[in-house]
Amino acid sequence: MNTADFLVIGGGIAGLSAGARLAKHGKVVLLEAEDAVGYHSSGRSVTFSHFGIGGATVRALTAYSRAFFQNPPDGFDELAHVRPALFIANEAMVPALDELERITRSLTDAVDRFDEAEAVRYCPALRWAPDAVVAAFVHREGLKLDPNALLQGYARAIRAAGGEIVTGARVAEITPRWRIRTEAGETYEAPILVNAAGAWADHVAGLAGVKPLGLTPLRRTIIAFDPPSGMDVRDWPFVKTAADYMYMLPDSGRLLASPVDENSDDPCDAQPDELNMAIAAHRVTEFTTLEVKRITHKWAGLRTFAADRVPVAGFAPDAEGFFWLAGQGGYGLQTAPAMAEIAEALAIGAAWPDDIAAAGVSPEQIRPERLL
Ligand SMILES: Cc1cc2nc3c(=O)[nH]c(=O)nc-3n(C[C@H](O)[C@H](O)[C@H](O)COP(=O)(O)OP(=O)(O)OC[C@H]3O[C@@H](n4cnc5c(N)ncnc54)[C@H](O)[C@@H]3O)c2cc1C
Repeated sequence: MNTADFLVIGGGIAGLSAGARLAKHGKVVLLEAEDAVGYHSSGRSVTFSHFGIGGATVRALTAYSRAFFQNPPDGFDELAHVRPALFIANEAMVPALDELERITRSLTDAVDRFDEAEAVRYCPALRWAPDAVVAAFVHREGLKLDPNALLQGYARAIRAAGGEIVTGARVAEITPRWRIRTEAGETYEAPILVNAAGAWADHVAGLAGVKPLGLTPLRRTIIAFDPPSGMDVRDWPFVKTAADYMYMLPDSGRLLASPVDENSDDPCDAQPDELNMAIAAHRVTEFTTLEVKRITHKWAGLRTFAADRVPVAGFAPDAEGFFWLAGQGGYGLQTAPAMAEIAEALAIGAAWPDDIAAAGVSPEQIRPERLL
């Protein structure tokens, strides 16, 4: 029997970031089913931090987390580069763009409304036309995050504090309070179990006899394609339609695009389907002068949501020592520093952090009780 103070199930961004903070308070053992951390959602994200996603709570968590990305603590490599986020609208999306601009201005001064010339200067392939883009604004200080640096930085912090990360350790049985047996027959014990199993979080709760939260995994598709030869896209912004329809961003000289799809799926090794890949390519051509001649790479991942689309952290009211850290949806990377700080405070029984409260996030918005 391996003993610890905190057992964390899940080696994605949620488990690693919370594990790193909890490791300051006791021995952390993190169990990850796959042979490497970040194999599922956290390794399939496009890792862009912006305000064009989520409601007020998610935006507050996103805003709060920026300082961590821009000034990482010791032990982390560089985590982020400033990259503008250009929000665009066709005629029908103009009200949504206006509202998003209003919200973004309430969070930052780094916002400019753009006319055609300015928008096209930022993204030369933009198709500014009555049937395409008719309005745009930019948040000049979007952040492109480095997912590998983030995941590995948190993993190093766990190990540096004496914690362990065990990969290839799929949790198969859980008995209160709390004993775990993996598929390979290894056993672990701790008084606090952190369920950070992403799309599998409700399944893990089921193994422990804890009431599930009704989390929904939704699949999202990404395609990669080459820009026309001679076109240097490396400095292009993240471009997103004001309504959830299409986004595109540069990545190592190529372009990534998504149809912003949300298809419900069972927890699984998510794969892209032909239809959503084709829709992504088509929507790129609707809003830009680009042609997607060949999809060079594609993938899909699951974004797992609670009913109110706000992430969840806190002890299960029906099972002592069972801690939920789930429902990171489409913003698990960009909100991770804030959520890890919240998870730390709640798991060790500390007061709700003043700086999180000052950012506009209260326990009632985050704790699992709201969903039960
Ligand atoms: C295409 C796409 C684009 C995205 N873009 C962004 C973005 O730009 N910005 C952003 O912030 N977020 C983005 N996201 C969302 C982000 O990826 C997720 O919110 C985040 O990765 C969720 O992290 P997680 O740790 O909860 O889940 P995961 O990374 O899936 O980790 C959960 C882990 O639990 C493990 N596990 C499950 N069951 C068991 C078990 N029984 N035993 C042991 N281990 C188990 C799994 O193997 C998995 O590794 C995107 C997601 C997708 C799919």
